[in-house]
Amino acid sequence: MVNYVATLISKTPILEEQRQAWLSLLDRLQVSVTEKKNLSDRAQDFFFDLPDSLGLEFLRAAVNTVCKENAIDIALQPNDRYRRGKRLVVFDMDSTLIQQEVIDMIAAFADVEDQVSAITSLAMNGLIDFNESLRRRASLLEGIPSTVFESLKSQILLTPGAVELCKVLKKEGYQLAVLSGGFIPLANWIKSKLGLDYAFANQLEVSEDGTALTGKVLGDIVNAERKAQLLRYIAETGSIELGECMAVGDGANDLKMMHTAGYGIAFNAKPIVQEKAPARLNTRSLQDVLYILGYSLDEQNSLLDD
Ligand SMILES: [Mg+2]
Repeated sequence: MVNYVATLISKTPILEEQRQAWLSLLDRLQVSVTEKKNLSDRAQDFFFDLPDSLGLEFLRAAVNTVCKENAIDIALQPNDRYRRGKRLVVFDMDSTLIQQEVIDMIAAFADVEDQVSAITSLAMNGLIDFNESLRRRASLLEGIPSTVFESLKSQILLTPGAVELCKVLKKEGYQLAVLSGGFIPLANWIKSKLGLDYAFANQLEVSEDGTALTGKVLGDIVNAERKAQLLRYIAETGSIELGECMAVGDGANDLKMMHTAGYGIAFNAKPIVQEKAPARLNTRSLQDVLYILGYSLDEQNSLLDD
């Protein structure tokens, strides 16, 4: 038998109907709960054993249905030393650590919104790949003042809970990184704002006199594959096992890093990402990631206090 933990998380205090929907699923599968632990009025851990032969995969599809029907998230994972023993968390930036998509903000700044969204939809329909869409979108930015990123900083909105989550994780000794398909000036800025250890993102070329973007992208493009590589690189640098890593993101190009890491959370992600990610979180605050790592609200508050 393997011991697993399921963390129920709701946007609002967990309703009895939500809890019952989950428990009756376990009943139907003849799985009995061995222990429960309240993490807060919005989050609760349920521990249960599954025969080795079953594993979690057989539960996932059924759990997805319960989640959708009951507006709740249920994160499933083995209840082993990795649950609370993680050491590295890597984050996507746009729509994960921050609320916006930076490319759309630059497009608005440069008045090329329609062209950029046309390229985005080609990419979303699989007609061009991420690298090609990034190059095409970047080329629309030729001639824009290189101060664009400086101007955008005041408009960037951090996701609620991002500051608290990073503060608790740093206190607990985690290494933190932002791995972004966006652009390095803002990824570096987010790194310093949140006290992260690493920032990797794409670099746009600046003209020789330093005044304008040339519309070209420099160096390796940070795409899905590169995000997974960077995760491996950071883990190796810190002698961290992949099982001790977690990735958090919202986009299709975050799935590879989620599956490379020991665990992955789709945060308010696109439906396809929610379906393929190891876990989903659809609440308002990134701080709720701490419930999935096993921290009760009291523990979170005391780490935030001192
Ligand atoms: Mg994103």
